[in-house]
Amino acid sequence: MSSVRVRFAPSPTGPLHIGGARSALFNWLFARRYGGTFIVRVEDTDLERSSRQSEENILDALRWLGLDWDEGVDVGGPYGPYRQMERLELYKKHADNLLNSGAAYLCYCSEEELAAEREALMAKGELPRYLGRCRDLTATERASLEAAGRRPVVRFRVPENEVVLVRDLVRGDVSFEGSEIGDYIIVKSDGIPTYNFAVVVDDHTMKISHVIRAEEHLSNTPRQILLYNALGWEIPAFAHVSLILGKDRSKMSKRHGATSIEQYQNRGYLPEALANFLALLGWSPGSEEEIFSLDELKEQFTLERVAKSPAVFDLDKLNWLNGHYIRETDLERLTEMALPHLEKAGYISAPLPAEKYESVKMMVAAVRKYLSYMQEAAEHVRIFFDDDVLIVKDEAREIMSGGQVKAVFQELIKKINVTVTDEIKADEARALLKEVGRSLGLKGKQIFMPVRVALTGGTQGPDLDQVMAILGRAGIVRRLSEWV
Ligand code: GLU
Repeated sequence: MSSVRVRFAPSPTGPLHIGGARSALFNWLFARRYGGTFIVRVEDTDLERSSRQSEENILDALRWLGLDWDEGVDVGGPYGPYRQMERLELYKKHADNLLNSGAAYLCYCSEEELAAEREALMAKGELPRYLGRCRDLTATERASLEAAGRRPVVRFRVPENEVVLVRDLVRGDVSFEGSEIGDYIIVKSDGIPTYNFAVVVDDHTMKISHVIRAEEHLSNTPRQILLYNALGWEIPAFAHVSLILGKDRSKMSKRHGATSIEQYQNRGYLPEALANFLALLGWSPGSEEEIFSLDELKEQFTLERVAKSPAVFDLDKLNWLNGHYIRETDLERLTEMALPHLEKAGYISAPLPAEKYESVKMMVAAVRKYLSYMQEAAEHVRIFFDDDVLIVKDEAREIMSGGQVKAVFQELIKKINVTVTDEIKADEARALLKEVGRSLGLKGKQIFMPVRVALTGGTQGPDLDQVMAILGRAGIVRRLSEWV
């Protein structure tokens, strides 16, 4: 495939959502797969809701996910500017062309007139649409409406009796009845273009080859195709990617959990896990494999393997994937990711002295296997910070009622005080427990179960030798002393 040019065109009205991130990722993968160009441009025509802050947040979230772009709002490029509000002249030029050719006309209908028309149609059980009252105004009629202070919008004249065929690379051929569309606004009375018009001008002038976007835009596509035809422009290929549903099969919303990328970032998800997860929301590799790096996805991604059926957002799967990446990744990086969560929980404060950092690193190493995301580290490391060891389970209490318990603790305290300095390494801890067993003539379990309960309160958890290394001699002695 030559000269693939694709784009992601967010509206900067809030954070980057799961669905938007998935669209961005699919476009990026498609561009990278075929040696094409990926563009990030911004649809900021909703003046009330758009902000530069949102734009920056969206770009940050894309970068965090590991995406980069060749042209766009921040990096520029040969087809800029890449913000719609900086392209108004261009839209005006093409709107004027459409007005001159008669493909569009000025409409002076007021909000009240339009509302009355919609209501009347709905009362008859018909689709609410614009019936074309201003289609054939004479110059005199226009002049008198203008004199009365009415400001016109530009409407596109939908050709009569036309069936518009959308040839979609994911959904196949989908046809739409032109008669159900009704003449639509392409430029509002304040001179700002509507989405359907601006997107066509942008896609054409930026030489977009493939429009890959969410299914909710499928119904806009016939409106866009009619504009391409009227402007005499070549129609790009379209690929509409399925909706994302929650596990209950209703459209994904806040009810189903966090919907913005930032929220996942803040909870301590790894970007490569989220990117991996997003790729599988609608695309499948055609094998059972589920773990993919961006590099692997880049090699394998094709639109043919994008499913028509809705994708289901399964948080358990995301957690599973993230847990996988947590176990695989570098410990230093994971420790860095854990710090803000431990700080928030009040266990540490920044800046962290070097020896404390080492200790936190050991904690992260000990608990990483239990974590789905790094925010959970805070509750798992509590046992290392809180000397008030809480025993909740009967099973643990029963272990502490064993006849040998006191002797085990006394022996361990004795040995630990003579054998080691303040610091104790995991292998030293293991050796010590063995020695205690040998000198008391007891078996492994009779030693390490009560020690585990005394140190952590539970019967399960991180490896005991790691726990001991983290607590250090003083910590161990303090906790065991409670029992002797
Ligand atoms: N701003 C639109 C959106 O965020 C872009 C749609 C498109 O890609 O054409 O949904």
